Amino acid sequence: MVKKQVMVSPEELARQRDFMALCQKELARRYGEEKAPLAFVKSFGCQQNVSDGEKLQGMLSQMGCGFTDDIQQADIILYNTCAVRENAEQKVFGVVGWATHQKSVRKDLLIGLCGCMTQQAHIAEKVRKSYPGVDFVLGTHALHQFPEIFYGVLQSANEGHRRRAFAVEESDGVIAEGLPVVREGGIRANLPIMYGCNNFCTYCVVPLVRGRERSRRSADILAEARELIAQGYREITLLGQNVNSYGKDLEDDLSFPQLLEAVASLPGDFWVRFMTSHPKDCTPELMDVIARCDKVCSHIHLPVQSGSDRVLTAMNRHYNRAQYLEKVRYAREHIPGVNFTSDIIVGFPGETYEEFRETVSLIEEVGYSSLFTFIYSPREGTRAASMPDPVPAAEKSRWFQELLDAQREVGMVHYQNCVGKTLKVLVEGEGKLKNGILPQEEIDAAGGRVLMGRTEHNMVVDFVGPECLIGQFAQVTITAASNWALAGHWEKPGC
Ligand code: SAH
Ligand code: SF4
Repeated sequence: MVKKQVMVSPEELARQRDFMALCQKELARRYGEEKAPLAFVKSFGCQQNVSDGEKLQGMLSQMGCGFTDDIQQADIILYNTCAVRENAEQKVFGVVGWATHQKSVRKDLLIGLCGCMTQQAHIAEKVRKSYPGVDFVLGTHALHQFPEIFYGVLQSANEGHRRRAFAVEESDGVIAEGLPVVREGGIRANLPIMYGCNNFCTYCVVPLVRGRERSRRSADILAEARELIAQGYREITLLGQNVNSYGKDLEDDLSFPQLLEAVASLPGDFWVRFMTSHPKDCTPELMDVIARCDKVCSHIHLPVQSGSDRVLTAMNRHYNRAQYLEKVRYAREHIPGVNFTSDIIVGFPGETYEEFRETVSLIEEVGYSSLFTFIYSPREGTRAASMPDPVPAAEKSRWFQELLDAQREVGMVHYQNCVGKTLKVLVEGEGKLKNGILPQEEIDAAGGRVLMGRTEHNMVVDFVGPECLIGQFAQVTITAASNWALAGHWEKPGC
């Protein structure tokens, strides 16, 4: 069904810009004209959340704020939260507890919570009752209203009667174009092309907190992509919770394969990735675009979740094992060297050991280079949360370890196969990991500085090279491999 888009009106966006200017004045009054207030913004969870965090930073920057990674220096602390699993939520409550404690000694500290967690009514209520130090809570649908909400908080503090703000109304979601963005790095950029999800996988809270699928107009996306390329970004990741169902809600606009090809056809030296694709929308047309567009990385992150047909049906995934494997086969036939990664859930309610073993056999059959693996976590409001779940946690942990052991072997093959090959990598910066496979003599000879790059298959490579390579593509000959990273040799003199 084609639905009408829910665009935030230009008038409303202009109103929010006015609030940014008002916030700037209030902040200057609060912290003095000569010192920019410092914000600490921490995003948890998926790339979509990171992208929302970049918009919050964009709005804060327009209000005259600077940024700090040192929370002790911050005047404003903003936690952009994730609700996908319980441990993500616990982590947030831990750090919020710490921040609100800081506030007992630094009364002028401002603390805000936003993101997926806060869009859940029971969480907003818990914050209201148990975390009085939190000044404002901004649900995912209220992101563009941040300036107005923040202004209310600042004004009430100045007037001496602190008012907390909770903007967590339910909504199917909106699209706000043209919000300012401050991106990290300058090399790799996230470009959201759609928001929300219609799939209602039975374990997943995302559709409950991010609303229905809504696609941006391709003209807006292409304009932003052109801007990113002009700014020198070398990699653009098209983002969506279900990125390959892009465009189904639009009339007279591009489909996802057409959009991907349009982005890849823009002039410039860059790579394009996309995530996350749902297997049901991974069509031959899409794989043909990946095959014919050099700038589209030959890497498909295609979450399978389980290798058992019964479990896939219980998860409401809309494909079975054979259909998934057929997509992998088609891709391998048409895209030379294509690489797959995936997400797996272990211990879905009612899953048996035999069904879990079907997942292990599937990962061996597909041969993923790496996996994101999760133990099932019940989420309030989802269908799976009320399904019988008899397998004890300790048993699920054993299965989880078995999966990791199997994947170690499967992944190793991919990494070992790279040894001796010369691969194009995008150099992202200094190698912080020092992955342990680059010979120490080589590291010492380079004064301890190692560069880190990523192949189009999303494999990390450490190698020695000059700093001027950062932000460039480089040809690196792979000399050694572990089961999760590569070491290489770069020979070209100069930059
Ligand atoms: N939209 C993306 C990402 C969703 S969240 C997608 O559909 O792939 C990222 C991953 O978290 C999911 O793929 C799934 O493997 C995992 N996940 C989601 N809900 C979960 C839950 N309740 N328990 C454990 N893992 C979960
Ligand atoms: Fe969650 Fe499924 Fe939507 Fe992904 S496709 S966000 S797992 S409901």
